[in-house]
Amino acid sequence: MTTIAELMRSSGIDAMDARVLLRATLAVNDAHLIAHADDEVPAQHAAQFRAAAARRAAGEPAAYIVGEREFYRHVFKLTPAVLIPRPETELLVELALERQPQRVLDLGTGSGCIAISIALARPAAHVTALDRSVPALAVAQENVARLNARNIALQIGNWFDGLGNEGGGHYQRYERYDVIVSNPPYVAAGDAHLAQGDLRFEPACALAAGADGLADIRVIVAGARPHLAPGGWLLFEHGYDQALCCRGLLSQAGFCDVQSWRDLAGIERVSGGRAPSL
Ligand code: GLN
Repeated sequence: MTTIAELMRSSGIDAMDARVLLRATLAVNDAHLIAHADDEVPAQHAAQFRAAAARRAAGEPAAYIVGEREFYRHVFKLTPAVLIPRPETELLVELALERQPQRVLDLGTGSGCIAISIALARPAAHVTALDRSVPALAVAQENVARLNARNIALQIGNWFDGLGNEGGGHYQRYERYDVIVSNPPYVAAGDAHLAQGDLRFEPACALAAGADGLADIRVIVAGARPHLAPGGWLLFEHGYDQALCCRGLLSQAGFCDVQSWRDLAGIERVSGGRAPSL
């Protein structure tokens, strides 16, 4: 027999990851792990934990092993079909919510963590979330159901291609959104980080975007205006060294109030601008 404390000590992996795996194995929270550190762990659970720790030691991200990750105070189900939510992406949720939008569009929703967090924080708003990946949409759908978000519609679509032309025919009459958010792929295709650490296990289509990492951001910035209400905001996440380029793209596309916001690490992580008012 072994105790919680002994299992943690001998896990051979990072202490934070060990906590994530042990919490999931025992179906308890952090407070329980601390308060019951000297409790004996049943052999079957100890074996399960050691197997999970071995997978982590071999490189698999802890969030995929346990199949969930917390983001913006909610627990999201995950599979390797979707990116693992990052804490810095919460900035995008906060910036969207500050603007008190009624109609929100999330492009490349993945697990749905951004769209669902916005929908839950603003029950009177209506959120549309798009992804081109069917397996990703299945994960997002499960999160919508698990978190009981009622004001969100999931749609298949590749950036703006999935959005209907309500008018039909030649004249484009799109639904207009107050805020469009996206955490698109933005890593340069040749970036060495793609072959390292957790990124090796995440879907390449959610990470890499052309030779300079800006391919999808260009499509989003170029296509957003017809889908924005007058004065509506486009806000998107990008790489640590892409803020200047992103502001340039936004200005070229005619956005006003173009700016970038820093994440908790002090890195310019989100840029955006607003569509001109009428
Ligand atoms: N922030 C991620 C990383 O480089 C990339 C996520 C993304 O491309 N949207 O770890």
